[in-house]
Amino acid sequence: MSALIEVENLTRVFDVSKPWLNRVIERLPKALLTAVSDVSFGIEENSVYALVGESGSGKSTIGKIIVGLVPPSSGKVEIDGVDLATEPEGARRAAVRENVQMIFQDPYASLNPRWKVRDIIAEPVSARGGDTEGLAERLLEQVGLSAQDAGKYPHEFSGGQRQRICIARALASNPRIIVCDEPTSALDVSVQSQVLNLMSDLREELGLTYLFISHDLTVVRHMADKVGVLYLGTLVEEAPRDTLYADPKHPYTQMLFEAAPRMDAFGRDIDPPKGEIPDAINPPPGCAFHPRCPIAVDRCRKERPRLREVGKTRVACHLAE
Ligand code: SF4
Ligand code: MG
Repeated sequence: MSALIEVENLTRVFDVSKPWLNRVIERLPKALLTAVSDVSFGIEENSVYALVGESGSGKSTIGKIIVGLVPPSSGKVEIDGVDLATEPEGARRAAVRENVQMIFQDPYASLNPRWKVRDIIAEPVSARGGDTEGLAERLLEQVGLSAQDAGKYPHEFSGGQRQRICIARALASNPRIIVCDEPTSALDVSVQSQVLNLMSDLREELGLTYLFISHDLTVVRHMADKVGVLYLGTLVEEAPRDTLYADPKHPYTQMLFEAAPRMDAFGRDIDPPKGEIPDAINPPPGCAFHPRCPIAVDRCRKERPRLREVGKTRVACHLAE
């Protein structure tokens, strides 16, 4: 059975050269940042797939590629068997628009402050000339707010309520897939679990599929069926949730579990672990994790480990048994 979303050999390279520097120093080589490097995974319908990693690991870029906000440099994304890259622009947009919505970290920044909530929620449908009669009111109730809230403005709501409004807007076009990029990390811990529970309930009621992007291993444990761990744009480990939490096999995943309490709400290291700061422009040769890996051997500095199956886990480490 093929998955609802298939990501194959996905790579995204950004040109991060500084134009002003290029004017000063002629023929400066381009600075290329490989944000996503040869990543493959599948997401089954009506499941939650979490991508975890530190900031800069490439998880948001993968989310943006799947919703069509960023094109891949190479590799492909298939949604329900449709290869987005080979579709003409119009069909590609339609496939994404009909199937995929995105929820962002900051619910305030993504809501137009001058629009009433009714218009914000109905916008994805009204933009296509669809029927929006009573739509916002129905969706507000579905996300645990009240129909009367439709006439208010975003600033009249708390952070958690605003994220519910974002969820209502995402639901307006009846998507099958929602890409959630750190959907609760800007919220108070007490509000986080309410929003996460709402998302779980909606998945069951509506048969939704989530790509859940997070640095927070506690939140991921609560939400995910399967977890992929990213390091410097590479998928280093993937396993069903319980397998990963019981027996993390990659030294980086193990380090993440140890470092978890040291991260702030945005996944930045408060107290960075030993080792060089990874540089995605000049990644280390061999296993990109070797400068920070406590068990690295000579082979790790020369040969890039490929993902291979160990039990129910896929892991990219020469030494994983
Ligand atoms: Fe560590 Fe080597 Fe495994 Fe990379 S391949 S994680 S350096 S042991
Ligand atoms: Mg991010």
